[in-house]
Amino acid sequence: MSLFRKNLIDGEWVGEAGSRNINPSNTGDVVGEYASAGAEQAKQAIAAAKAAFPAWSRSAPLVRHAVLKKASDEIMARKDEIGRALSSEEGKRLSEGIGETIRAAQIFDFFAGETLRLSGELVPSVRPGVGVEITREAVGVVGIITPWNFPIAIPTWKIAPALAHGNTIVFKPAELVPESAWTIVDILHRAGLPKGVLNLVMGKGSVVGQAMLDSPDLNAITFTGSVGTGKRVAAASVEHMRKFQLEMGGKNPMVVLDDADLATAVECAINGAYFSTGQRCTASSRLVVTEGIHDRFVAALKERLEKLVIGDALDTKTQIGPVVDASQLKQDEDYIAIGSQEGANLAFGGERLDRETPGFYLRPALFTESTNAMRISREEIFGPVANVIRVKDYDEALAVANDTPFGLTSGICTSSLKHATHFRRNSEAGMVMVNLPTAGVDFHVPFGGRKGSSYGPREQGRYAAEFYTTVKTAYTFAG
Ligand code: NAD
Repeated sequence: MSLFRKNLIDGEWVGEAGSRNINPSNTGDVVGEYASAGAEQAKQAIAAAKAAFPAWSRSAPLVRHAVLKKASDEIMARKDEIGRALSSEEGKRLSEGIGETIRAAQIFDFFAGETLRLSGELVPSVRPGVGVEITREAVGVVGIITPWNFPIAIPTWKIAPALAHGNTIVFKPAELVPESAWTIVDILHRAGLPKGVLNLVMGKGSVVGQAMLDSPDLNAITFTGSVGTGKRVAAASVEHMRKFQLEMGGKNPMVVLDDADLATAVECAINGAYFSTGQRCTASSRLVVTEGIHDRFVAALKERLEKLVIGDALDTKTQIGPVVDASQLKQDEDYIAIGSQEGANLAFGGERLDRETPGFYLRPALFTESTNAMRISREEIFGPVANVIRVKDYDEALAVANDTPFGLTSGICTSSLKHATHFRRNSEAGMVMVNLPTAGVDFHVPFGGRKGSSYGPREQGRYAAEFYTTVKTAYTFAG
């Protein structure tokens, strides 16, 4: 290990040695060492972002366009190297790491374009001689707090619109994945961002994150992570009367109806429930299956699970990488034990696996004979664990799908236009998939959920403007 990465505050790389970044595929491999900011540095970062805001928010669109476009181009040119580093620290397989990196480049490219598409409205007043102009302005200093499961895509889909709309940023990434965060900040810094516009404060959530929540000088916070932390963000933001946006957990249902194409349904389940080691907020953790196809679906799914290659994230043969760390692995194993205790049938997997290198390997687990009342159906596990819930017909499937405190994504596999259409309209989720996995979304359209999954405006695409801008209505009497 030779890497030592520092924080970026007011245009300067600062910080002493802090925490080690461990490769979950090989715990003997230290990806690098990373500075760990304290509350004082978080305050300095916020002050720097506040000082940088007036000039950046008034910068010409082409200035912002140039930085975002340059970042996109560099990320795309270095996709293999960056994707490899991402997979080394997070454990998703290499093709997913590179795919996520390409996604980041596409998002920067999209928001580079957005800088040139900013617009407002000119409206006649109800009063003679008066004109009304409606414009969007930057919100101010935005705090960005991100989770570990999409180390480059989630920071990017927050940083890119924030910058495009003229905000300045204090960015606090998850402790487990600092390399991807550092890399995009380094790229943006070298792409020409003025000092203070983007500040990186790697460090503990309870220290750096909390200092951000407690600051009266953050004008908005965008957060993705667990429900527990999300509630803290909400409470602190109300206290400071600041804008906030939360993207949190999921317990996403994938419905399989009798008339589904079996091969499609199985592939949707494998991809949705187990790819990225099941560590996606959009994962299909509940498979809601009607009784006419139930046994065939379970048999085919088990056959497909048998063939999955679980191993080192960087091995190109690997289809499922390790779990991210020891505590997430323990959580997965605890829920597997809970499922069995509750009376569900562990039909496949769930055991730890040994590989050539010491890592957090777990065979994907499938429960059958589960009910929607069980804890494994109601609580987010966030690992390669899914359970099949047998239902009588479409009506019961829809009721079970909607019976959850979450509402991020949902899916249905069916060849019935009638049921697909009814499900799209009546599913209580922010994103609905027909004959597609519940995970895997486009970058240019709104992303977000309902109920306990999300709070505030949608992320991504043009809808991102809702959060990163504030509306001004100006009246002019020209005489
Ligand atoms: P987490 O809540 O533990 O951490 C998220 C971030 O919050 C981290 O950067 C962490 O350091 C920070 N944090 C922790 N305590 C804090 C505090 N007191 N004040 C401020 N910040 C604090 O979540 P995680 O384990 O990193 O991520 C997994 C969770 O993220 C899952 O629940 C998953 O569903 C969710 N997630 C949701 C989406 C979505 O878009 N809905 C996407 C990805 C992940």
